[in-house]
Amino acid sequence: MSTHVSKRLAAGASMPAPGDNVLINTQEAVHAALQRLGYNDTIYEVLKEPIRVLTVRIPIRMDNGEVEVFTGYRAQHNDAIGPTKGGIRFHPNVTLDEVKALSIWMSIKCGIFNLPYGGAKGGIVCDPRSMSIHEQERLARGYVRAVSQIVGPAKDIPAPDVYTNPQIMAWMYDEYSRIREYDSPNFITGKPLVLGGSRGREQATALGVCIAMREAAKTRDQHISDLRVLIQGFGNVGSNTARILYEMGAKVVGISDAAGGLYDENGLDIPKLLEERDSFGMVTPHYKNVISNDEFLVQPCDVLIPAALENQITENNAHDIQASIIVEAANGPTTPAADEILKQRNILLVPDVVANAGGVTVSYFEWVQNSQGWYWTEEEVNSRMEQMMVESVHNILKTARRYQVSTRLAAYMVGIRPFAEAMRWRGWV
Ligand code: GLU
Repeated sequence: MSTHVSKRLAAGASMPAPGDNVLINTQEAVHAALQRLGYNDTIYEVLKEPIRVLTVRIPIRMDNGEVEVFTGYRAQHNDAIGPTKGGIRFHPNVTLDEVKALSIWMSIKCGIFNLPYGGAKGGIVCDPRSMSIHEQERLARGYVRAVSQIVGPAKDIPAPDVYTNPQIMAWMYDEYSRIREYDSPNFITGKPLVLGGSRGREQATALGVCIAMREAAKTRDQHISDLRVLIQGFGNVGSNTARILYEMGAKVVGISDAAGGLYDENGLDIPKLLEERDSFGMVTPHYKNVISNDEFLVQPCDVLIPAALENQITENNAHDIQASIIVEAANGPTTPAADEILKQRNILLVPDVVANAGGVTVSYFEWVQNSQGWYWTEEEVNSRMEQMMVESVHNILKTARRYQVSTRLAAYMVGIRPFAEAMRWRGWV
């Protein structure tokens, strides 16, 4: 029996490029939003960091009999409004700063959509693409045991994120219920339907992105069927977005995965690509005419939907992007320097904290259904989410016009205000 520290940890400790530290960028955005709203710096002092962060080490017996030790995090940004909420990602590049930033973004989303939560996020430094299903199960259960003290249906409610899925949610739900010794479906969202998952949850983020895109296009007198769309990333969100837009009559001219992109000005055969993709969203290995990610982002299109990871649209490519509308399905895909360039170029940006919040909104519906033991139809789920998305997109665009600020800053202003107000009422600040 031997124990060794995961080699993957070293691989995961990548340094962000200067200016691309997502936590610092997020803090600056929160600060700017609070200042624009006239709140004092004490409020910023509370909101600039999560109120609670837990780092855990998780020893896991691998299939070869050896033990690997994984590092995991859970960051809870603010609980003035209610329990915290947010996904758990499995990825080799997870860092504490990234998880903290993601928890702040979750707060902003909940604030914009008036959900009774603050934000949270979890992550494990691992590469599930090179792990067996049994190793993934042991890691998912080990993570829940490690964070069980600080999570729960009225404390902090996890969900899926990058490289996690309903199966992983099911193992986590099972582990948590065993620890607590009672059935706790409302501990976690994004579960399989048969275990109390919500109808519509799996495609909720993507459906929300498509509704956000439709609403943004309307303000420029464009209709979905006039638009050529480029989608970066073919995981849960990217692939479902491609499918829904294809069904809505848009021309999906490009999709990409971790290895590169496919582009066809006449539109791609999305149903075929959906059949060919694997569970990690890989499809390009089936093709020869694959272009690099850098080339992909600057292909001709009307709408660009980044649906992969952070810091993809940067000052290096923002000048060359051909889209006139960007709808951010990923969290944090655009750097602040790129934001500035897009604004100067009059590109209409629907920020991540609005565009991808259909996911957490339907997670909220799932938690409500689990708490009540009363389940909704898919039509009810979708139409309630649609109504909230339409209102939120127009609220952000209106706020941006009213305060003469970017849509990003407007979104932060709308999303952070409820936290400042809730903390005041509670007498914290
Ligand atoms: N991980 C998703 C997000 O970034 C969903 C979170 C949730 O459903 O709680 O918004």
